[in-house]
Amino acid sequence: MNSKEVHMRKIVVIGAGIAGTAVADELIKLGEKDVTVLDKGPLFKTGGATSHAPGLVTRTSASEMMQRCADYTITKLLGMDVDGLPCFLATGAIEVAVTPERLSYLKRRREFAQSWGFDGRIIDPDEAAHLNPLLDPTAFIGAYHTTGEGIGKALRGAEAQGRRAISGGAQFFGNCEVTRIVHDGTSVTGVETTQGFIAADLIVLAAGGWGNALAKTAGVTLPMVAMEHQYAITAPIARISSEKGTDASLPFVRYWEGGVYMRNEDDCVGIGSFNHKALPVSDEEIVHGNSRRYANDPSMFEFTQEDWDPAWEEVIALMPDLRDAPLPIKYNGVFPYTPDGYPLLGQTKELTGLWILECLWATHSVGAARSLAQVITGSAPDIDITQGDLNRFDEPELAPNDYSIRCDNSYVDTYAIHHPNEPSGGPRNRRLTPFHAKQETLGGQFFDSATWERVRWFESNAELVSKIPAVDRDEWSAKFWSPISGAEHLATRETVGMFDMSTLRRILVTGRDASAFLNFMCARNVDGNVGSVIYTLMLNEHGRIVSDVTVSRIADSHYLVGGNSQRDVQWLQSHSDAYDVHIEDITTNTGCLAIWGPQARTVLETLTDADMSNESFKYFTNREIVLAGVPVTAVRVSYVGELGWELIADKADCAKLWDEVYRSVSDNSGVAAGRGALTSMRIEKGYRSYGTDMTRADTPEEAGLGFAVRRSQSGHLGLTSQAPEPRRMLRSLTIEGSTVPTFGQPVFAHGKCVGSVTSAEYGWSQGTIIAYAWLATSVEIGSEVSVHIAGEQSSARVVADCQFDHEGLRVRS
Ligand SMILES: Cc1cc2nc3c(=O)[nH]c(=O)nc-3n(C[C@H](O)[C@H](O)[C@H](O)COP(=O)(O)OP(=O)(O)OC[C@H]3O[C@@H](n4cnc5c(N)ncnc54)[C@H](O)[C@@H]3O)c2cc1C
Repeated sequence: MNSKEVHMRKIVVIGAGIAGTAVADELIKLGEKDVTVLDKGPLFKTGGATSHAPGLVTRTSASEMMQRCADYTITKLLGMDVDGLPCFLATGAIEVAVTPERLSYLKRRREFAQSWGFDGRIIDPDEAAHLNPLLDPTAFIGAYHTTGEGIGKALRGAEAQGRRAISGGAQFFGNCEVTRIVHDGTSVTGVETTQGFIAADLIVLAAGGWGNALAKTAGVTLPMVAMEHQYAITAPIARISSEKGTDASLPFVRYWEGGVYMRNEDDCVGIGSFNHKALPVSDEEIVHGNSRRYANDPSMFEFTQEDWDPAWEEVIALMPDLRDAPLPIKYNGVFPYTPDGYPLLGQTKELTGLWILECLWATHSVGAARSLAQVITGSAPDIDITQGDLNRFDEPELAPNDYSIRCDNSYVDTYAIHHPNEPSGGPRNRRLTPFHAKQETLGGQFFDSATWERVRWFESNAELVSKIPAVDRDEWSAKFWSPISGAEHLATRETVGMFDMSTLRRILVTGRDASAFLNFMCARNVDGNVGSVIYTLMLNEHGRIVSDVTVSRIADSHYLVGGNSQRDVQWLQSHSDAYDVHIEDITTNTGCLAIWGPQARTVLETLTDADMSNESFKYFTNREIVLAGVPVTAVRVSYVGELGWELIADKADCAKLWDEVYRSVSDNSGVAAGRGALTSMRIEKGYRSYGTDMTRADTPEEAGLGFAVRRSQSGHLGLTSQAPEPRRMLRSLTIEGSTVPTFGQPVFAHGKCVGSVTSAEYGWSQGTIIAYAWLATSVEIGSEVSVHIAGEQSSARVVADCQFDHEGLRVRS
């Protein structure tokens, strides 16, 4: 389709809440001509969550995507009104901390905001109480205050955007319920509604809590659950009588530890609570209602007093003036949650033309809608929305039993402190690698990631800790961490370590066009000799990194692609139509055991007759061999900077493989090692981790991976002959002191925030903390910078990549 045809297509948006109206407005702005918005309720007070959202809009976020979406929401709403009434009230916000732990976390929150281009201040209780006189300054120890946050008038914002879309040519129909999404098996064709069939080439589902029920009419399940959320408004409070008529004027208050938030609604106080158990609403209840419906509103349920009482105790502890206040308005509102708290954005893999814009807070809705509209119209989104990618969940995560429990947890944890290394609240043990049982016997400490259980360290190695140097570590980064990882790191560098790499994706690509297909999908030719291995990248149409992969040529038309996640499989599949290829995800049918370290060759030579010598089995080659009677594909690559191989075997053979390798590793004074050691070793070596260090926002050169692409070659998806001008660079830092930053901590130079950390660890072989950070292009290697961590500053230096074994002698030995 050329761009003219694109803009002639018929687009139907389901839902005229703030998300649906925003996407319609943005699509029109981007040149779409035929946009129809349908809502089952009357316009614009439709009865969705937008109709009664109190509208606290917080920019500050640990997620760059969420913060940037909120930035755009605020900027846009600030410039809009409905008949002179504003869509955004810049009241400012105060987040209070009762405990030192929370205050420290608020400092981190401020730093995240700085990383993504916004700032606030840590203030003392008296200043906070001065800004909002309802606060009792003796009830908390400090606060985070911002002026650039406030109250989004969500309903008014929906109407303003709806009106603008209409003036740009969009059509809006209220009281028009979509009863079914219609398709021809591969693409959407329209919607059945209470007013008849409406044809569509493209549908954007923005139906809030009703989203899953509607998606299911097209055979698509979305990992989301609508939740009841309590909100109440007091009678007038004498202390703020002067605020009458202001709507919202005082900085709103978030009291994380109490699980509650408060804003003034004129001279009354509106209070929302997350301090209650999860109250999920079934699709049946949200679509058809139940006996608890409140005020005949489809997204409000009767208030459950027993859930409210603990929250109320917290409210009056912080705001004693509210103690005897009646609550004339109180209800349980409804809006949807996802398992990880991020929205669902993107096109479904099941149906072409079915786009999802779901599970958005009013806060992020407008920014997310704009980004989705940009993707729909074929441009690169200004905001990287990878974190909200609809297809980020793997198959097991989509099982209703799993995602509904995770959505419950996600609701209850809305106000919890989130540590980046924390395991999920469950369900656990959903996906075990074929080595799991063996690792359990060694005291493997398991943490889950995308439902896989992965070992971070082995308690069986605890005695090695006394043999390594003691290293100070700050309290935060010492959580979910053990010095045993350090022992495993050093043992691997000194002798040998075995690592379970099974959770990474293994994809077989076979068929007549396998070479042509993979050459197109990858950013350099991968059709070297049989037995070759190539490290390269897959890029999207905009030249940004979709994944980093190793491609092993096993036979002429037979490749093994080592990728990152199931999205790689989808990416390959979605581009394969024109090729005679077969793509098979063999991840769950196989296991992958990596043997790395100076003794790796010795370990394997005792188990195989194959020639493992450097001359015969070179770095970046692969071969089928038999190890202790087990057929394996041995791929000579390393993610830790040591000599070694990844061994891929049938699942059924993995227990035997583990036993034999472990025996030989132990005979050579080696260890079984976990992800903790893997992380510190790969960071020390300069190796990136996709999803953490780089995403679909980044180009190869920006991420320091220009060596993995060949701009001189043509015919590679997304690869142009000239690298785009870099907007920022992923750099290495060495950091002084004992505080290890975690993702998102800001980096400062000359008093100005110049970037943020992606990953960091203590480099046990280097004896210093090493980090990667996205930095402004002006910050050069050798610059002195500082990393701000929970209010403290650590001196750091920008250094060249690859700190350990710069020449790469060890991997080639
Ligand atoms: C009590 C409460 C407090 C909140 N506080 C905040 C806050 O402080 N800050 C914040 O950012 N967010 C807050 N939220 C969340 C926020 O209100 C919502 O996340 C946001 O409004 C969602 O907008 P939406 O457009 O996605 O969904 P909705 O506003 O729910 O819109 C979905 C629309 O789809 C329509 N629809 C559904 N089914 C069909 C169908 N079959 N056919 C046609 N139309 C259909 C509905 O009628 C509805 O209009 C709160 C929510 C509640 C309930």
